Amino acid sequence: MPHLRHLAVHTATTKPLSLAECADLYPAAGVGGITVWRDALEETDPATAGRQLREAGLEVVSLCRGGFFPAPAESERRAAIDDNRRTIDEAAALGAPVLVLVCGAVPGQPLSESRQQITDGIAAILPHAEANDVKLAIEPLHPMYADDRSAINTMAQANEICDQLNSPLLGIAADVYHVWWDPDLETQIKYAGENGYLFAFHICDWLTPTNHLLTDRGLMGEGCIDIKKIRSWVEAAGFQGFHEVEIFSELWWATDQREYLEAIVQAYKEHC
Ligand code: ZN
Repeated sequence: MPHLRHLAVHTATTKPLSLAECADLYPAAGVGGITVWRDALEETDPATAGRQLREAGLEVVSLCRGGFFPAPAESERRAAIDDNRRTIDEAAALGAPVLVLVCGAVPGQPLSESRQQITDGIAAILPHAEANDVKLAIEPLHPMYADDRSAINTMAQANEICDQLNSPLLGIAADVYHVWWDPDLETQIKYAGENGYLFAFHICDWLTPTNHLLTDRGLMGEGCIDIKKIRSWVEAAGFQGFHEVEIFSELWWATDQREYLEAIVQAYKEHC
C-alpha cells in the first residue's frame, strides 16, 4: 500500500503496541510518519529506535513530550529544566526534529504566574535546543486542563510566548482536540503561519459526551470537530508537515490494533 504522504500516528495512539510493532504495522497500514512518546523508548535507546524506525520506512516526526515547567519551589523548576534538557538530548538521538511541550500548571497557583514560569523555563532550555538543532513546539491544551496540565490554553497565548522569545527553534503544535472551540482560531493559526511558528498539527475528535478527561478521545469523524476546515486553515497558513493522529482512548486501545490502524487510515481519508 502506498504511504499516505502526510499521515503520521503517535505511539500513544496505539499504546498496546511496542515500538518494534509500530515499526512493523504502521508502514504496512500506509502510515508514513511516527511521533514517539517517551514511554515507548523504555526498551530501546533513542538512537537505535530512530534508526530502526527509519529503516522501516517511517519518518520520525516528533518526540512527545517535554514541558511541565511550573512548580512552587525554584529547586523543582530547576529540576524540570534539567529534565527538559535531557529530553532534548533524547530527541536529537532519536532524530526527531521537534520536541512537543505540554507546558504544565500548578493547581491553585495563578495561571499568569504559571505562564511566566513556562516562559522562563522555555527561555532556559532554548540554547540547548539550538545547540542540538531540535525545535520546541508549545502545545496549547484545552482549558479543562488549565488546573494541572497546562496554563497555555489558546493559540494566542502560545503565539505570545513565541513572539516574546523570538527564536526560529520555538513554535507551536496545534491540536484540533485542544483548540477547535476557539472563536479566534483561524486568525491565530494565520498569525502563527505568517511568523513561522506552525511546527505540528495533531488530529483526533471530540466525543459527546466525553466520559474521561484524558482517555476518551474519538477517532476522526466520531465527534464534532470540523477537521477538514481546521486543516484548510493550517495549510492556508503555509503548514506542509504531517497530520499526526493522536488519540488516547481506552475503547480503541482495547481493540485489535491492526484493525484499528486500518480504521485510522479510513477515517483519515474520509474526515480529514
Ligand atoms: Zn496533541
